Amino acid sequence: MKLKTVQDYKQGLLEGKRTALAQAITLIESKAPKHKVIAQQLIKEIYPHTGHSVRIGFTGVPGAGKSTLIDKFGSYLCKNGHSVAVLAVDPSSTLSGGSILGDKTRMELLTKQENAFVRPSPSQGTLGGVHLKTREAIFLCEAAGYNIIFVETMGVGQGEMIVKEMVDFFVLLALTGAGDDLQGIKKGLLEWVNLICVNKADGDNRLKAEVTAKEYESIIGFLHGHSGGWNPQVITTSAYEEASFQDLWKKICDYKEWMNKNDLFYTVRQKQMKAWLQASVNEYLQESFYEHPLVKQKLGDVEKQMMTGDATMAEALEHLIKIYQQAMKEM
Ligand code: GDP
Repeated sequence: MKLKTVQDYKQGLLEGKRTALAQAITLIESKAPKHKVIAQQLIKEIYPHTGHSVRIGFTGVPGAGKSTLIDKFGSYLCKNGHSVAVLAVDPSSTLSGGSILGDKTRMELLTKQENAFVRPSPSQGTLGGVHLKTREAIFLCEAAGYNIIFVETMGVGQGEMIVKEMVDFFVLLALTGAGDDLQGIKKGLLEWVNLICVNKADGDNRLKAEVTAKEYESIIGFLHGHSGGWNPQVITTSAYEEASFQDLWKKICDYKEWMNKNDLFYTVRQKQMKAWLQASVNEYLQESFYEHPLVKQKLGDVEKQMMTGDATMAEALEHLIKIYQQAMKEM
């Protein structure tokens, strides 16, 4: 039976039904105006049931081992009494229509756990796979009772910055050979990431991973000094070793404890709400501007005037804004 009313969705969610959760996420991702209305009512209804989870972001270049680690670490947490939801990124839609990972089913182990939910989201191009509605999807997962939420982003585009604003803890998966790898890592990341896992630290790679971890530690020390805050920490991990999951979980718990002790956990979440509002306003304004029929009609002409030198950037901008403001007045 297809769920229809807000109450149907809500009931299914609060009962922790995975099908209801999947349908509710599809609903909030829908661009159809009638779905948007129900989606917003649903978010309002379930809001009191949100906020209790630990939200953890993962990033790393394709091939860093994100999906394997999330699969194994998530399963480990499920076996230890947690319930884990993963809002994963399916890279297939950005790269030439086919998955860069072939047809491998991602997170097979976790999908089989009773208290897990895995949701691959289409990448939507420029945001590095982070769906604009991911934040609301987090709320839905929380209402459905999940107490650990993973948000995975590919290490491209603006994805990390967006995910940073919606998670409590952010993990960067790095690979050995920091010399090469660091070229590929956006240096800014190292300033705010909470934990760096030098991954695939197994077999012949174990020693190299430890050397790389030391290299990261010295870079972090250089970047942060003794700030008195939580300096990013560095560990080595392997998806094939349970000790890694224990280490990883301990770091997350230590961080949460430290944040709580310093009254920061909820303060940061409040700041994130502000950033979310700002991002939503930006998105709304941009959409309403470019989608406006008058703007659409005139944009090409104004662009031409700029290209031919008949208008400066400032004049072109002023012209377009005037058209838009006039259109708004007439609404
Ligand atoms: P993602 O693109 O970051 O999600 O990377 P994947 O999880 O798909 O992993 C890429 C490749 O690395 C796969 O062939 C995995 O089997 C392999 N891999 C993942 N984790 C580990 C690990 O801890 N150790 C080793 N040796 N290989 C791994």
